Amino acid sequence: MNLEQVIRENFDEVRLNGDNSEFILKCPKCGKEQHFYLNRLSGLGYCHRCGFKCNKSQLYRLLNIKKSQHVKPENLFKLTNRYKTITGTIKTAISYPNGTNFDFSATKAGKEALEYLRSRGITKEYIEKYKLGYCTSGWYAGRIIVPVFEGKKLVYYQARTFRGQEPKYLNPPKSYIYGKSHFVFNLDRAAKIGRAIITEGVFDAMKVGDEGICIFGKDISNYQAKKISQKKLKKIVIMLDSDAKVESIVLAKKLYSYLDETKLFVAFLEYGDPGKASSELIKNTLKKARPFRKYALLLNSVIS
Ligand SMILES: [Zn+2]
Repeated sequence: MNLEQVIRENFDEVRLNGDNSEFILKCPKCGKEQHFYLNRLSGLGYCHRCGFKCNKSQLYRLLNIKKSQHVKPENLFKLTNRYKTITGTIKTAISYPNGTNFDFSATKAGKEALEYLRSRGITKEYIEKYKLGYCTSGWYAGRIIVPVFEGKKLVYYQARTFRGQEPKYLNPPKSYIYGKSHFVFNLDRAAKIGRAIITEGVFDAMKVGDEGICIFGKDISNYQAKKISQKKLKKIVIMLDSDAKVESIVLAKKLYSYLDETKLFVAFLEYGDPGKASSELIKNTLKKARPFRKYALLLNSVIS
């Protein structure tokens, strides 16, 4: 990990000085905000309040010490929420990024975000329903925040650029120990209906309707499979992007070991992905969904 990443992950607020040569941070010694200047090239730091000086390796050691369970971090400086997550009981809960804005008409960037969402068929109705936000500053600037809830608890979010930045998606800071493979988007809502349609992306899931869930890609983890199986769904349809026929079968096979086989169906989109498909195409594709049992028998006969 380079200095840049270490700083982004360990400090809530990261500013730069006039010529961008130094980070301006909360002092790791005295805790004063915006007083610790750290040179981005040399890694030398100096606090203009308490006079604390350090080089890069001393700073790294200090940051690691704070994360360790053996030393009381309170002694170093007032805890941020993030450190509490690491040093205290590990909880599956997270907050929206600092400064997340929920009023899309309030700012120029918000309108830009709205425009992007509209281009993907995500209307204001979806924004409210799925509690989307956006950021105008900080690490997640220029991104739409798509939250993942379990019950009322926010457990994860994806930050999707609306300005063509790379990478397209950013995740919560690495200090949050859970990754996207631990969660399933919109699973609670689907569970209430008793049916789920598994898609690859959050916007795919939204477009498919209340039953739409997403596993953040074409592959399912054991955590995700378990979470889906625990919901006692009556019917589960796999509907990945049209280029993912093989992956659909692999996914079904994986889920198959967790579920009553009669509940599992596979639907193949003719083209594109559910996020861009018309509701007509989605409806027709769902009608043509096949029970996976048939494929399973076929697979077995091919293998044996
Ligand atoms: Zn200081």
